[in-house]
Amino acid sequence: MGEMKVVGGNLSEGIITTKLDALLGWARKYSLFQYPFATACCGMEFFAVASPRYDIARFGAEAPRFSPRQSDVLWVVGTISQRQGPVLKRIYEQMTEPKWVVAFGTCASCGGFYDNYTTIPGVDKIVPVDVYIPGCPPRPEAVLDGLMLLMEKVQKGTREPVTVPPREVPGLAQLRAKKARPTATTPSGEGES
Ligand code: SF4
Repeated sequence: MGEMKVVGGNLSEGIITTKLDALLGWARKYSLFQYPFATACCGMEFFAVASPRYDIARFGAEAPRFSPRQSDVLWVVGTISQRQGPVLKRIYEQMTEPKWVVAFGTCASCGGFYDNYTTIPGVDKIVPVDVYIPGCPPRPEAVLDGLMLLMEKVQKGTREPVTVPPREVPGLAQLRAKKARPTATTPSGEGES
């Protein structure tokens, strides 16, 4: 894929050179219409991401479409049973190209703790997955990380699957830092532990 370059000054003065596919990728990544295929408890967290606190609208991805023909991203949210598998596949096939798939949560990514004959051990057995978001359920911050990874893929035109890396939980990071900090000693011995 090509890249966008500003020639002859900054963005307000110069001219932009790019390839058409790079321009399309850049435009597409800010206009991702999503199809939520929500089946289980992960759905609650998915809807939380749409709240003003997380403001998914700033990424241009806030509008759900309940017609596969109008959707760009299939969000598979929750556990997928063997009976739901063919329905999911049908929906994916009805989406027009280009299209992307996000596996939201551990169940969608690998079946989670449902190691039984009714549950599909990961939706990539049925449809190609672009982004895996681990977690049971994933935190909204992880979902936003997944969305940004997807936007990067859309712009670059790459199709290799990616997984959202774990985030440091702020509270745990503070505890670790506190533990690592050397204790101040005073002549009277106060502060030693
Ligand atoms: S990953 Fe956890 S929260 Fe999400 S659907 Fe499975 S059991 Fe429910």
